[in-house]
Parts: sequence; structure tokens; C-alpha cells
Amino acid sequence: MAQLSDDCFAHGGALTRLDAALAELSRRLVPIASIETLALAQCHGRILAEPLVAKVAVPPRDNSAVDGYAVYHDDLSRDGETRLPVIGRAAAGHPYSQPQPRGTAIRVLTGAVMPLGEAGSHPDTVMMQEDCTRDGDSVLIKPGIKRGANRRLAGEDLKAGQTVLPAGRILTAPALALAAAGGHDALRVRRPLRVALISTGDEVHQPGSTLPDGGIYDANRPLLAALLTAAGCAVSDLGIQPDKRDHLAKVFAEAARRHDAVITSGGVSTGDEDHVKAAIEMQGRLDFWRLAIKPGRPVALGLVNGVPFFGLPGNPVAAMLTFCFFARPLLQLLNGAVPLQPRSFPVAAGFSYKKKADRREWVRVSLRDDGRGGWRAEKYPVDGAGVITSLTRTDGLIELPEDLLRLEPGTPARFYPYESLGL
Ligand code: AMP
Ligand code: MG
Repeated sequence: MAQLSDDCFAHGGALTRLDAALAELSRRLVPIASIETLALAQCHGRILAEPLVAKVAVPPRDNSAVDGYAVYHDDLSRDGETRLPVIGRAAAGHPYSQPQPRGTAIRVLTGAVMPLGEAGSHPDTVMMQEDCTRDGDSVLIKPGIKRGANRRLAGEDLKAGQTVLPAGRILTAPALALAAAGGHDALRVRRPLRVALISTGDEVHQPGSTLPDGGIYDANRPLLAALLTAAGCAVSDLGIQPDKRDHLAKVFAEAARRHDAVITSGGVSTGDEDHVKAAIEMQGRLDFWRLAIKPGRPVALGLVNGVPFFGLPGNPVAAMLTFCFFARPLLQLLNGAVPLQPRSFPVAAGFSYKKKADRREWVRVSLRDDGRGGWRAEKYPVDGAGVITSLTRTDGLIELPEDLLRLEPGTPARFYPYESLGL
């Protein structure tokens, strides 16, 4: 398994733009997820570990795209009907075994390979059966068809030896179809990163338990477990752990022994009761990445006995955003995937908003049809980093770039639907 350097998460502590932080960390991180060979049927959602090369051309032979008649285009009259004798038949999987003589037609069905030719030329065109008239043993063909019509060329999808997909691609359903068409029944893929998930906080309790005074139920584990699973990680739920330095140190060390990465929420502010930092520093190194984003707190990154550690903020909205825009791309790199930028599209703001310079902000919004074929984004009135209903009652996020200072109604803005963030 690849090794991370001891200082791969080192950070000077200065406020850092998100893009710069991701670019810097991308240079330092290497895939650590191990590689296995897996039957194609098991590969959906996995990450390709090596470039995939087509073993055969797709399609392997020139073939007919329709039901009709294979002909030599040079045999067709330009201005009148052509009558050709139909001398044979080819269906998908049943090629015509002889060369097709000039001046003839062969009945072909969709997917049948084009008959071989003779004397240096070959049947190159297929007449759709709807465009010709069968008359006993011959077929009457109207003029005007283009050379090569209705013929699919060998290798028009893939050439043999061509790279089908690069390493790092997530294997979607169409990617599996392409791999199969190219002759692969098994692929070299990354094993899912084994991630230990922990909530911290003396006030945090398991839903279903009796809530003591001052307690809250743990919202972050279900949130992060779902996001991690959707990102292709194998999640171990290590529960809720109290704010006790020595105890946390033991839990983290044990988690690191059996996982490829450890992710926690809570306990990484600089309050008196934030013991995560001290716990990590008993056995490794922790750096606080102060990202110029809102909502979001510093995200703590470190290594526990060589295993990457991600400490996310405790507030659920901040935990979610720092996961989606920062931790997930880093986990994808560790997982050997090429991180994909979530899809966004432009909408018009339906509200005014002021923000600080040099900080990226995300505003929770609902979309309204503007009646003119566009969308207007309305801001959710409550925007605390802990308000979970602000996520369930809205459609997505507007991203306000670092250099923007104010938004007015009608200003174009970039909208991320929650679906595109994998929520
Ligand atoms: P912290 O990051 O530990 O300072 O926590 C910030 C806020 O998030 C506090 O109000 C915590 O009670 C809250 N919080 C921490 N962990 C969770 C959790 N797992 N579920 C819901 N809220 C949490
Ligand atoms: Mg706490």
C-alpha cells in the first residue's frame, strides 16, 4: 500500500482559499486504497485502478444498422431505380459466408456483418427495407441514397488497443457496458477505503436513548455515513465518543489500526472541551486547515500512526459542507479516484446579500420558476450552521465566489442542486 509522508497535511495556519488548499493537498496525497481484481458484475461504483484498454474493436466488424439490403453503392443508378437480384441473407451472428458479387443485393438484418466484397471493392451501403420494394428474387432501389448509409464501421466506437477509460474513473453503468463491449469480464479496481466514523461530544447521544438535560441526538453520523457510503467508502460506525483526551486517544489509535482513514465530527474548535487535537497529538500530528469558507470551521487534518485523520466541525451544516467541498475530494484522491467537480448551473439571485471579501460562501436556497424559462433562487431565512431544516426545506446551494462582495436581485449566481453534491 502507498505511504503518505508524515507532513502531508502540514499547514501554516493562515486562512487559505478552498481551491488553493485542495490543489496543495492534491499534490501531496497519493492513493492508499489497495487494488483487487473483481468480476465486472461487482464493479458498479468502484474506481478503476488501471487504465482500461479495449481488447477488441467495437464493433468488431462493419455491420448493418438497419433491416434492409447490402449493396455496392457503385452499382446504383443515380437518376433511376436500380433492380438487383437478392442472392443471400445475413442476420446478426450469422454472416453471409461468400464474397458478395458485384451487381447483387444481400438481405441483411440489424447487426449482421457486412458481406465481404470482391475485386478490390466491397458492399458499402445498406438500403433500409422501408426505402425499397421487394419483387420476387430482386429488390427495386430508389435513387439518392448516400454511400455508406446505414453501415456501422468496425472500430467506430473503440479501436482494439485504445484506452477505453483512464485510471481513477468511477465505474458507472455505461462504463461497465463499454468495458464489456471491449472484452473485459473482470477489472482492476480499488478496494473501498475503509473509513472509521466517530461522533465526539459529551452532549451527543444515540437517537432512541433517553436524552438527558443538555443532551442532543447525534445527527452527524447518519449524515456522514450516507455521504461516505455514496462516495464509495466502506464505513465502520464507531459510535459516539466522550470529550476525554485519553479515551479519544485510545479510540483513534484502535480505529487507525483497522482502517485506511478516520473521520470525526465535533471537538475541533479551540474551546476548552475540544480534546481531539490533544488526543491526536499524543500519537501523531494534527494541523488545522483554516479555510476561507462559510459556513465551515477549521477542518483538522492529521495522521494517527500513519493513517489520515479528518476532524470535521460539529454543527451538522458545517460538517456537511466541509465534507462535500473539502474532505470528499481528499478521500477520493486517497481512494485513487479523480475527483469530479459537482455539477452546477447558473440561476438568478432573488435576494440581496452582502459578504466579506476573500471568502467563499454557500447560501441555502429554494428555486422558483421565474415564468420566463429561468430560475430564481430565494434564500432560506435561517442560516445557522446547525439548522438542519435549512437543508431539508431548500433545493441546493448558491456559491458566492471569493471576490464577490454583494449580491442583488437578478445577479447571476452558480447553483448546486443537493443531488449534485451527493446528498
Ligand atoms: P463542536 O464542533 O464540538 O464545538 O460542536 C459545535 C456544535 O455542533 C455544538 O453545538 C455541538 O453540540 C453540535 N454538535 C456536535 N456534534 C454533533 C452531532 N453529532 N450532531 C448534532 N450536533 C452536533
Ligand atoms: Mg464539542
